[in-house]
Amino acid sequence: MRRNCTIRRIFAITAAITLFASGSAYAENIGKIDNEVYKGLGEVLENRQPEEAVPVNSNFMDRIDYKKDRVTARFLIKLPGAEEVKADSSELNSVRVEIPSGIMRTSDLSKDVNDRYIKSYNLYSSGDTYVFEMKLQDNVKADSFVNEATGEISISLEKQVNSPPIIVVDAGHGGTDPGAVNSSAGIDEKTLNLKVSELLGDMLSQRGYEVVMNRDSDYFVPLKDRYNNANTIDADLFVSVHHNSAGSAAVSGIETLRPNSAENKIVADYIQEELIKNTGAVNRGTKIRTDLAVLNGTRMPAVLLELGFMSNANEVTRLKDSSYQNILANSVADGIDKYFGR
Ligand SMILES: [Zn+2]
Repeated sequence: MRRNCTIRRIFAITAAITLFASGSAYAENIGKIDNEVYKGLGEVLENRQPEEAVPVNSNFMDRIDYKKDRVTARFLIKLPGAEEVKADSSELNSVRVEIPSGIMRTSDLSKDVNDRYIKSYNLYSSGDTYVFEMKLQDNVKADSFVNEATGEISISLEKQVNSPPIIVVDAGHGGTDPGAVNSSAGIDEKTLNLKVSELLGDMLSQRGYEVVMNRDSDYFVPLKDRYNNANTIDADLFVSVHHNSAGSAAVSGIETLRPNSAENKIVADYIQEELIKNTGAVNRGTKIRTDLAVLNGTRMPAVLLELGFMSNANEVTRLKDSSYQNILANSVADGIDKYFGR
């Protein structure tokens, strides 16, 4: 224990020097020290001067920075030091990082990520080392790098994109679930959704995409099957086609719903922009929605289009018109082209 103590003291001094030299990252961590953990270190910290830097943080999550786009992601673990840290990404579909316990103290952690890149990660202590293991999705390549100067462990992830991109077109509702209904106009949402979806599917095929239709006639498809289909085939984009309805007959316009991520914003903006430009409909913008199953369950970028209000007399007349349906589908396809740079 005494020897440990000496090592820790040396480390603390090194860390203090690093802090002085390189500034903010470490200073933030000092601020986040959990008092209980501080006490729990007991003997090791007994003789420490209060102003000494403590290379301890109870919350490993605070050390993670994870950014991703359509084809690449970067997972960063920020440590107060990185000497003797080993990172290995040579195994297929996994990354392993070994962190000496002198660098940090934390509790074990296990997290299911299940997004486009990462299946899960796991942090556990093994002797005097913390082992961080990351399991990757299929078709994801990893590269890892330890920067001893900054204390950063950088894990770059690259998604092998399908060529051509695979697009799932999801015609909302169907069968026993009609969606919105406008009896006086003699139309229900499931029918409009299918019409536009079929047009969109054909256009995308003609433009060279691989298209998978979640529904190609009038039958019920459970929400879970809709996103599981897309995940199983590892699609590159999920487009759900819907039409809106409101209590007030005056409301009209188009909106694009999306999950809360930068990548989803890019594709949603492209599609919404094309739709408004070509239809002149009221622009209700793109909206973040965290409560929709098809947007939550899909691992790839996803949008849910609300192409107009069936409850508005003027708009529903347009929505039933096949040339307007063509304009809608064509606009969505143009937005998708922009997103994929085609
Ligand atoms: Zn709907």
